[in-house]
Amino acid sequence: MKPQVIHLSREAPAKPALGETCNGCGMCCATEPCPIGMVISRRRSGACVALEWAEAEQRYHCGLLKKAAASGPSAQRLIARWIGAGKGCDASLEWQAATASPDASLPLPD
Ligand code: SF4
Ligand code: SF4
Repeated sequence: MKPQVIHLSREAPAKPALGETCNGCGMCCATEPCPIGMVISRRRSGACVALEWAEAEQRYHCGLLKKAAASGPSAQRLIARWIGAGKGCDASLEWQAATASPDASLPLPD
């Protein structure tokens, strides 16, 4: 996979290892939508439009799963199965946090 710059909240948790419990770091969905995410995002790469930051919980959620939950347990189960929710982190991504923004070296205004 080609190196890619993705933008996530500074408060997002760090990505856990493959197979560990998903902590909502958002890295997978910010890199490339899952199959159903590709349909709703109308693209095959880049961030999924359904990815939502939950400020109170300091983590990302799948907005599609949240909407499905509001429609009832069957819809929630179906979407959860489609997106592989609750199965642990399945994203084998290597990542590196940006150390500074491009403007960090500029002098601050007086
Ligand atoms: S599946 Fe992995 S990369 Fe995706 S949000 Fe969960 S922990 Fe992060
Ligand atoms: S799990 Fe949800 S937010 Fe993530 S790519 Fe799939 S549809 Fe989008």
